[in-house]
Amino acid sequence: MPLPVFHNPPENHVGTSFWEGVDAGELRLARCSSCQRWQWYPDDVGPCCPGATYEWTAVAGTGTVHTFTTVRRSFLPGASTAPYTVGLVELDGVDGVRLVSNLDADVEWSIGDRVTVRFDEVDGRAHPVFVPA
Ligand SMILES: [Zn+2]
Repeated sequence: MPLPVFHNPPENHVGTSFWEGVDAGELRLARCSSCQRWQWYPDDVGPCCPGATYEWTAVAGTGTVHTFTTVRRSFLPGASTAPYTVGLVELDGVDGVRLVSNLDADVEWSIGDRVTVRFDEVDGRAHPVFVPA
């Protein structure tokens, strides 16, 4: 299955914890250590409450397709990964978060489809890909 190519995040980037989770076979998202509110995307400013830190918490990895699109022609010169499908997934148990991620490009998707995450290795790096649940 084709997937777009992503480069590794820079060292000390706030997203490093997300990719460490992916490498461990988990989908981990950030939440505020004080009020426990999910914060996606996390940023360099930090969580919503003063003095709080990000807690990277493993989530179930199941959810519902909110929307999606299939890219049939690559935007990047020289890239040949198209077609691939990118979706916005509402994750179970993670209120207020819609995760942009790859959907299995070999599936005829519909809005509202139930999904579960799978981790595919591309160019030596694991990537989350949602497949039908
Ligand atoms: Zn907070």
